[in-house]
Amino acid sequence: MMIDLRSMEYAELEAFLTESGEPKYRAKQIFSWVMQGAESFDEMTNISKKTKQMLMEKCFISKLSIKEKYISKIDGTIKYLFALDDGNCIETVIMRYHHGITVCISSQVGCRMGCGFCASTIGGLYRSLTAGEILNQVIYAQKDIKERISNIVMMGIGEPLDNYDNVIKFLHNVNHSDGLNIGYRHISLSTCGIVDKIYKLADENLPITLSVSLHAPNNEIRGGIMPVNHKYKIEELIEACRAYIKKTTRRISFEYSLISGVNDSVENAEELAKLLQGMLCHINLIPVNHVEEREYHKSKNSDIKKFQERLIQLGMNATIRRELGADISASCGQLRKKLL
Ligand code: SAH
Repeated sequence: MMIDLRSMEYAELEAFLTESGEPKYRAKQIFSWVMQGAESFDEMTNISKKTKQMLMEKCFISKLSIKEKYISKIDGTIKYLFALDDGNCIETVIMRYHHGITVCISSQVGCRMGCGFCASTIGGLYRSLTAGEILNQVIYAQKDIKERISNIVMMGIGEPLDNYDNVIKFLHNVNHSDGLNIGYRHISLSTCGIVDKIYKLADENLPITLSVSLHAPNNEIRGGIMPVNHKYKIEELIEACRAYIKKTTRRISFEYSLISGVNDSVENAEELAKLLQGMLCHINLIPVNHVEEREYHKSKNSDIKKFQERLIQLGMNATIRRELGADISASCGQLRKKLL
């Protein structure tokens, strides 16, 4: 089996090179080339021919190719449909904010979580991405725009905590000072609420921001739109979030997509405030994006405003997410889905 160097952690690479008879310092050189985006061994100018030959026999560097690219005329948001080495496609989005350039990346090809309002899950899960394939989205998007990406959100296609080990590897590599060197505080990971993995993540000691897709204040509503709630009830999820905050001292961001007539009443806001009472958290209100195959619709602007105001009155920290890339179907899975 050929080894994808883009998926290897520093210590793994060092062990592999030592086993292959290479000196220890080679690891730093090769790791830097690979993690900063080298596409072939030829680019590695400080590596001997003999070492390159050995690498070529045992390893490869995974790639992405741009299959489609759309640039929003409204706000400059860029959406890529990237093809993986096996032909499967994923989506990656570049957003420009005043604090820097953010990339929104995918963690799986498809998704098996089944959320009722989401386009990414419609065809189910094809496979998880490797650590290298996750990283490649940052590398290739950065190369394409020729500007430094400073922030990462794992909010694209897939459920990152359903691909736990590869996601952790990716986080270590993208943060590494010999790699892209992106600070953990500039990385957000969004989950639909896989409770046992939230506890595990708390123990990893990574100061990233955890986003939890809550979308409802109780089991009845949440169970109706998010099948994951049948496995982990909202009380268990909130308990895990409280434990996460206690362990990491990091604030959690709760995502709440407002769906007309489903979860957007003032009573829902009150119940939500009660559920999250006293927690170190922020509530991110998102007007739900309409997905053709689904019957869910965006809440009225006046209802969204009322929902937010009630939360604020009750002492919660709540903002409404600005919509980016509205003209290029920038929200999750909308582009890949067209190909299925
Ligand atoms: N699987 C992860 C990350 C991917 S989705 C998760 O569930 O968090 C990123 C966010 O977009 C999630 O909060 C998700 O619930 C939300 N989302 C998905 N489809 C949406 C839609 N049509 N409108 C608004 N938000 C949506």
